[in-house]
Amino acid sequence: MSESKTVGPNFVKAIIQKDLEAGKNQGQVITRFPPEPNGYLHIGHAKSICLNFGLAESFNGRCHLRFDDTNPVAEDPEFVDAIQEDIKWLGFDWGEHLYFASDYFHKLYDFAIELIKMDKAFVDTGSVEEIREARGTLTEPGKNSPHRNRSVEENLELFEKMKKGEFEEGKAVLRAKIDMSSPNMNLRDPILYRIKKVAHHRAGNEWSIYPMYDFTHPLSDMLEGITHSVCTLEFEDHRPLYDWLLDTLKTPCHPQQIEFARLNLDYTMMSKRRFIELIANKTVAGWDDPRMPTIRGLRRLGFRAEAIRSFAEKVGVTKKNSISELSYLEQTVREDLDVYADRAFAVLDPIKVVIENWDEGKKEVFEGPKHPKDEARGNRKLTMTREIYIDRSDFLEEAPKKFFRLKPDGHVRLRYAFVVHCHEVIKDDSGKVVELRCTYDERTKNGVTPEGEKKVKGIIHWLSAEEAVPAEIRLYDRLFSDPNPASKNHEDWTQTLNPNSLEVMKNAFVEPGLESLAPESHVQFERLGFFVTDRRDHSKDHVVFNRTVTLRDNWTNK
Ligand code: ATP
Ligand code: MG
Repeated sequence: MSESKTVGPNFVKAIIQKDLEAGKNQGQVITRFPPEPNGYLHIGHAKSICLNFGLAESFNGRCHLRFDDTNPVAEDPEFVDAIQEDIKWLGFDWGEHLYFASDYFHKLYDFAIELIKMDKAFVDTGSVEEIREARGTLTEPGKNSPHRNRSVEENLELFEKMKKGEFEEGKAVLRAKIDMSSPNMNLRDPILYRIKKVAHHRAGNEWSIYPMYDFTHPLSDMLEGITHSVCTLEFEDHRPLYDWLLDTLKTPCHPQQIEFARLNLDYTMMSKRRFIELIANKTVAGWDDPRMPTIRGLRRLGFRAEAIRSFAEKVGVTKKNSISELSYLEQTVREDLDVYADRAFAVLDPIKVVIENWDEGKKEVFEGPKHPKDEARGNRKLTMTREIYIDRSDFLEEAPKKFFRLKPDGHVRLRYAFVVHCHEVIKDDSGKVVELRCTYDERTKNGVTPEGEKKVKGIIHWLSAEEAVPAEIRLYDRLFSDPNPASKNHEDWTQTLNPNSLEVMKNAFVEPGLESLAPESHVQFERLGFFVTDRRDHSKDHVVFNRTVTLRDNWTNK
């Protein structure tokens, strides 16, 4: 049986529950997720996907995937494919219910004609500036267009001309005839159609007029028999127009629009426009750069769909805008991977350690658990040899008192093996430590403390220099060091980039065997964090791991 992806209690679910109890919509629940194919999906979209598909699943209904492709300028089939792949990866399925608003262009055109015939829409041939100026402001009513009282015949004729491409772009629009004095700007004779002499990714060159989103959306919902049209809060003021269109056209079904607060995350920018800037100025390598909050980026960073879904559920669904903490998302990812990922050793920046009293050529296999809380997964084998690697950060020449790792004349326990004592530090000409000479104590294998020593507090990870597998390890961190980069204008937000958002460790080593992992395999490198094999670049011959998240939060209270 497949895993349940229903949503927990929330106010949208409660509204639907009530509707069902009241016998509305013949007991059906049909939702939709309506992306515009003008970019890749991000974690905010994931919240909407989890909600819409989750509601449908909760009520044994269905959720449509509909591409709202009304603006041919920015839309591209590349995005259509990527969006579908990302939704599937998140774990949701629209079945046969894949739709495109562009498939409704003829029907939408007929609705426009109907409105004109009802004298509820007119062609405005005023300039863009004239129309904008006459709109009024939030405190001042707008003014009626001088073209508002055109006859139905004249409007039909002009709209036909628009359709035939007889007007230049910007020279005519179709507007609804509602109320220029409405306190709601969206009702001040909103534009329904504009001229764009641009080919459409699906409709080709058929149209030189394209319907506006506010016109297309309610009618598309209606055509598909959507019962609950769940969208983000910024559409609240558009709801009267949504309802006006369906009421005026007396459509056979009238979906109910319900708004919820969008997901915002601190330390994150979540708008496609900004993503395009980040890619264009090469701050990131592309839409799937692991520092991007896109679903692809997070996936490549090593977030699992389960964690993203769990986060979407935990942040809940509300009517109040707020900013969620990236730390909370990361914590959710840690909790997910803590259970899921096997453990292993990796050395990011190696120093060679020679264990002088270990015979040349001698090998001994130690064992460590694959998972500390799941014995059933068994053990991994760690081979000890005379030369091993430890991480440079686990040795300090001038160590403070509280430094419990390795130091000159100090002891440290090699995890799952024994205690070593460091008695010589070898440096190169530049003074860089290149080798440590140590001895081990056979008796400490069983956790015994070396004679004459207090308990050895430090435990470090290590790898056999002979057997370790070379790897490239990419240490990703947050892209921004400012909690609210989106509040900044361009010059400022580029200043808020974290200069250490990527550090590449080219000379790292990992446990043997990990080279055979498939791309997108998750591990916890003990003491270092959760990592994933890169889904693009990792192979047996070029082992590449990305750091998904550190073991502890390094950002809170920074
Ligand atoms: P952006 O502003 O990032 O370009 P968008 O809203 O223009 O995004 P759409 O493709 O129109 O992108 O969005 C598809 C759906 O996802 C819409 O229903 C929208 O309300 C929802 N959505 C977009 N961003 C968020 C978010 N941050 N949180 C929740 N839902 C979102
Ligand atoms: Mg949009």
